[in-house]
Amino acid sequence: MIAVLEKGASLRRKAEIVRFLEQEGFRVQVSETAEGAFVSIVGEGSESVAEALRGMPGVVELKPDAPGYPLVSRTHKPESTRVKVEDIVIGGREVVVIAGPCAVESREQILQAAEVVRSAGARLLRGGAFKPRSSPYSFQGLGERGLELLAEARDRTGLRVVTEVVAPEDVDLVAEHADVLQIGARNMHNYRLLSAVGSQPRPVLLKRGMMSTVDEMLLAAEYIVAGGNPRVILCERGIRTFETSSRNTLDLCAVPILKERTHLPVIVDPSHAAGRREWVPALARAAVAAGADGLIVEVHPDPANAASDGRQSLTPDGFRELMRELGILTTAVGRCM
Ligand code: PEP
Ligand code: MN
Repeated sequence: MIAVLEKGASLRRKAEIVRFLEQEGFRVQVSETAEGAFVSIVGEGSESVAEALRGMPGVVELKPDAPGYPLVSRTHKPESTRVKVEDIVIGGREVVVIAGPCAVESREQILQAAEVVRSAGARLLRGGAFKPRSSPYSFQGLGERGLELLAEARDRTGLRVVTEVVAPEDVDLVAEHADVLQIGARNMHNYRLLSAVGSQPRPVLLKRGMMSTVDEMLLAAEYIVAGGNPRVILCERGIRTFETSSRNTLDLCAVPILKERTHLPVIVDPSHAAGRREWVPALARAAVAAGADGLIVEVHPDPANAASDGRQSLTPDGFRELMRELGILTTAVGRCM
């Protein structure tokens, strides 16, 4: 439920309302907009205090709570959230590119990949140390050694590092080495993992589950923010449909829908959607045109010999060409890189 306050309500009035709601056991969020202030009441059973609230000085209207995700909803916080990773801002004017291999395979491979993507203009380096693979016989990642190599790549290039965490018990270890923690599509519904990344301070890149709706993704984001971490970046990476020509179906509709429903930044992963490097640039360009705040793209120094997802990884030359095109495109849509 949202309590709309009278225009120019004093700090004292707001504090009284907040105190009352907190004493009743609710979590509240006060938002200031051009139209005035409002208080979002988070938690089940907020209707029970409606009567009392209505009678309080300063409250002009009560609005029912449409979404089940008040903390990430744009209704409750109209201004866009900018997630900062050191000096990088995701959710502002800049279209932020995250690039690198699917997995960290060796010291040479990740350092080479980092240099390639840095010199082409990427802002963050991606690379999985813990890989959630569909088959138990596929390469599972280098684990802690992979995290150390990512940290070395950051020290050498200045790129910030994004890597996936697959289990709640690994969160502290991954957070020690990485700048952004990725929750993969397969784990979007892993609520204990979502709560675990919600109770640590590093930003979280939350990927859409391959069979999840936009609202389910927002509920997953709500878990993280409710856990205490407001620094969440959403990622559309393609969903499973009847179409089998591409690895997944990139749901570009999700970009404007998410932008409407949430204040959180939205990025797109064209690589896992396409499944083939030939199709990645077209999807990347379309995502930027659709209003994405960034991209996460797989790039490998030697895709033919990649341990995972080589078929969809751009070559160094392919990535440089994509970055050149994105430079033109971002200007055309009033963004920058
Ligand atoms: C990945 O980023 O390499 C990955 C496994 O992605 P997703 O979780 O979207 O499949
Ligand atoms: Mn991958």
